[in-house]
Amino acid sequence: MSDNPIQANINVDANSLKTITCTCGAFIFESVAIYKAVPSIYSPTGKPTAIAMPCLRCIKCGEVHSMENVMKSIKDDSPIIGLGKGN
Ligand SMILES: [Zn+2]
Repeated sequence: MSDNPIQANINVDANSLKTITCTCGAFIFESVAIYKAVPSIYSPTGKPTAIAMPCLRCIKCGEVHSMENVMKSIKDDSPIIGLGKGN
């Protein structure tokens, strides 16, 4: 028994879940990251730093989708999640 509610909620049949697809139709992605520079005035340490924003890159067309865009697409109530809509 896990006290992590997210893990508990993900305990479903993967075949019943929506497949995230790229605008090109491919559905295999690799994890990449975009790095954002954080100026010293916004940094908790007072020194310039960088933060990583996780993204998915389509292995077929190479298009990079931000996780924000992916999450937006997941909210759509379609059987297949198409990325890149509304941009
Ligand atoms: Zn693609």
